Amino acid sequence: MSALEQNLSAPDFPERLSMDDLEVNMMKLVVVGGVAGGASAAARVRRLDAKAEIVMFERGEHVSFSNCSLPYYLSGIIGESSSLILMTPEKFKMQHDIDARVNSEVTKIDRKQKTVTVKNTLTGETYEEKYDKLVLAPGAMPVLPKSIKGIDAENVFTIRNVTDICALKAYLDQKNAENIAVVGGGFIGIEVAENLSSAGKKVKLIEGTEQILASFDYDMVQILHKELDDNGVELFLSTSVTAIEKDCVLAGDKKIEADAVVMAIGVAPETGLAKQAGLKIGETGGIWVNHNYQTSDPDIYAVGDAVESYNSLTHRPGRLALAGPAQRQARAAADHICGIPHNNKGYIGSSCIRVFSQNAAATGLNEKAAKAAGYNCDSVLIFPTDKVGLMPDSHYMAFKLIFEVPTGRILGAQAIGKGAADKRVDTIAAMITMNADLEDLKELELCYSPVFSTAKDVVNMAAMVGLNILYNCFSQVHVSEVRKLAESGAYIVDVRESAEFENGHIKGAHNIPLSQLRQRMDEIPRDIPVYLHCRSSQRSYYAICALQGNGYTNVSNISGSFLGICLYEYFNDKSENRSPIVDRYNFN
Ligand code: FAD
Repeated sequence: MSALEQNLSAPDFPERLSMDDLEVNMMKLVVVGGVAGGASAAARVRRLDAKAEIVMFERGEHVSFSNCSLPYYLSGIIGESSSLILMTPEKFKMQHDIDARVNSEVTKIDRKQKTVTVKNTLTGETYEEKYDKLVLAPGAMPVLPKSIKGIDAENVFTIRNVTDICALKAYLDQKNAENIAVVGGGFIGIEVAENLSSAGKKVKLIEGTEQILASFDYDMVQILHKELDDNGVELFLSTSVTAIEKDCVLAGDKKIEADAVVMAIGVAPETGLAKQAGLKIGETGGIWVNHNYQTSDPDIYAVGDAVESYNSLTHRPGRLALAGPAQRQARAAADHICGIPHNNKGYIGSSCIRVFSQNAAATGLNEKAAKAAGYNCDSVLIFPTDKVGLMPDSHYMAFKLIFEVPTGRILGAQAIGKGAADKRVDTIAAMITMNADLEDLKELELCYSPVFSTAKDVVNMAAMVGLNILYNCFSQVHVSEVRKLAESGAYIVDVRESAEFENGHIKGAHNIPLSQLRQRMDEIPRDIPVYLHCRSSQRSYYAICALQGNGYTNVSNISGSFLGICLYEYFNDKSENRSPIVDRYNFN
């Protein structure tokens, strides 16, 4: 028999041990928290150690449910709340021999005795359970500031689990609630707002800062402000709720009609147990863990939303409430418990969301965060089509790429469009993880067919534009600078064809179409700065090349061009009743 055949015929598991061996060697794992991190850790330990005794405690009434799908129950996309529950204690026992106990809150850890105290939340009864290894995966709880008057009222809800979402839906149905205030423009707030709006509710989204979704830069997120507004969600930015009443919320001098309120202003790591046990808490307020997700007690691990993890781009500790990292951390902790090494590379932060017809994704650092972290960086904003333009479902994709100067190292990206924004951002996430730069991204060979993408994909194009900027082939101004330029009478040349110009243009811009540029070049001054744009910056780039080739040294491309300008300006013009810098918006 060859070595290969011998290997293939080898049993999958080590030979069975006798009962005596089992009793001597059996490890007892206790897990606190039975959802993303906890259930993943328990299941992975079971796969690695068939003999371990595994007990998983969950305070709530369900284990292993799909937190991320909860908002979709509000619109009916998920018809039955029971489908949100992926596993039951019975299934855990039958499939994995894991003793999952619901309605069981761990209230205390005794590190000396290596025991936890467990309270049955239905009966109040308490008991102790021994452990050899303990995994803490208690997650994070919604923030509910006591400073908001009325925060404890019966019409105020948070969303963390199946019980919460059922309670909210039942309340809305029973009270026939029409006006709903969603407080907080993070991922959960936006998803809840979208789903309530789809369910026919009048939704008011109230956000304390000047923008929703902090992982996106201000220029990109304007597209999503517009999308919410277009779909009837009333958006209140830079608005802080001070009180909640029966039929409204108060925010400064604003009174916003609301029969029910969903609070989604963020989450705080559940560190109560860790603190009680004297475990070290990190500087960002999460449970401190080492490379292997061990806490300051080597027999206690911690994973998921409750821990402080390492941001490999800022080289700083940070916190990240996302399901993917929670599950990766759980696997790493389980591996370490079972003697398998783990290479902890930290996290970069990748996330995505659908906002009505727009798909939005972000990875790594946005420009604001990159600058705050001390990077010398620049960015490009492009609007190429996501598929070949002849395809009926081809649309523009707004794509922003952030890179370090002068190395060209890729630091982050954001994509928003009707097409596969997540695919583009996932590509960049992979590149960041591999420490790639703009040259690598330019050369990245991706699959192509007209129905999926373009031969030079959005991400390749962004790298090419980025390299042009990095190598000083031309200069650019960002879309956020255009208002100032337009209002100060700067010389702006629009190189689109005249029919496009008639369909909306920057007030005061000069229309010299690319097709006439070579004949009309003399009209463009050489002694003052000139700013060029077209629809998406491609034709204006060609125009810049022609002008520079003819001795112009004062020309800059407007990054994002007319489409970017309209999308950037629109929502603030409307909400602030501000005079537009364009005679007509055009979003096509
Ligand atoms: P959790 O999954 O919250 O599990 C912790 C569990 O521990 C809780 O059920 C809690 O009851 C229990 N517990 C706490 N203390 C105790 C105790 N003392 N004793 C016993 N049990 C205890 N992430 C994404 O990546 N993408 C998304 O699209 C996304 N959407 C989301 C939508 C919603 C509405 C919510 C709420 C979250 C979403 N998330 C999303 C975040 C993601 O769900 C979390 O990052 C992930 O679940 C964290 O896993 P965890 O195990 O740390 O915590």
